[in-house]
Amino acid sequence: MPDPRFTKPWHGIPREDIQWTVRAYSIGSAPRPDGSFEVNLRRVEGGRFTTWAFEEMKEGDELIGIGPMGNFWLKSPPDKPLLFVGRGTGFAPIKAMIEQQIEFNPSRTMMLYWGITDTSDFFRLEKLQEWKEKNPNMKIVLTARTISDGFKPPKGILFSQGTVYDVLAKEPTVLRHWDAYVAGPTKTVRAVLNVLKEKEVPEQNIFVDAFGG
Ligand SMILES: Cc1cc2nc3c(=O)[nH]c(=O)nc-3n(C[C@H](O)[C@H](O)[C@H](O)COP(=O)(O)OP(=O)(O)OC[C@H]3O[C@@H](n4cnc5c(N)ncnc54)[C@H](O)[C@@H]3O)c2cc1C
Repeated sequence: MPDPRFTKPWHGIPREDIQWTVRAYSIGSAPRPDGSFEVNLRRVEGGRFTTWAFEEMKEGDELIGIGPMGNFWLKSPPDKPLLFVGRGTGFAPIKAMIEQQIEFNPSRTMMLYWGITDTSDFFRLEKLQEWKEKNPNMKIVLTARTISDGFKPPKGILFSQGTVYDVLAKEPTVLRHWDAYVAGPTKTVRAVLNVLKEKEVPEQNIFVDAFGG
């Protein structure tokens, strides 16, 4: 007898003894031997799930996972240079891809642009430093509209104030032969796609995960 909670996850009538809400989160880590994975949550003001997650969720609480879903995974041949552009928690799926490349193809030509609203919103910066140590040629650029707490980027990592698309527009590398992976809110993704068009990255070489406003 299948567990009734899993039979119709999206449309089923919730059991009375569990609280029920469905949200999508990107897998934020490369596959691990023990099957565990990471998600990166941004707290949303007034948000039902994230308020609960930040204020009440505790070790041992049960969450039901459905997936993986979507089609934002690495599709490029191993010799293709890769550009990753993320905004906010759009960094999560990108982080998963880079983590995997650092493990299996560490000297690959890669570039990461990660933009956020305020520098205090950056998370897992120690990861970026670890990647830079393993792949010194990887260019990593952080961007934020505002700077707080005397923010200093980790060693070897670049920082520019502004939106991720405006900063990317100044990238001097010729990107015509690169594959690009772009993730984040729809508005930012659209602006990044315009920049990539100007930089002559062919449409079929651009992969996108857009969500939210
Ligand atoms: C493909 C995909 C991947 C995603 N990946 C991530 C990820 O990796 N990390 C991440 O943090 N998020 C991710 N998201 C967003 C995530 O799914 C949630 O939307 C987000 O966490 C907010 O959920 P919530 O329940 O806290 O907010 P909700 O309760 O759904 O509220 C969202 C907004 O609506 C407002 N609101 C709620 N109820 C009302 C009301 N009655 N009247 C007026 N306004 C209201 C809230 O104030 C808030 O601003 C992803 C979304 C998609 C589609």
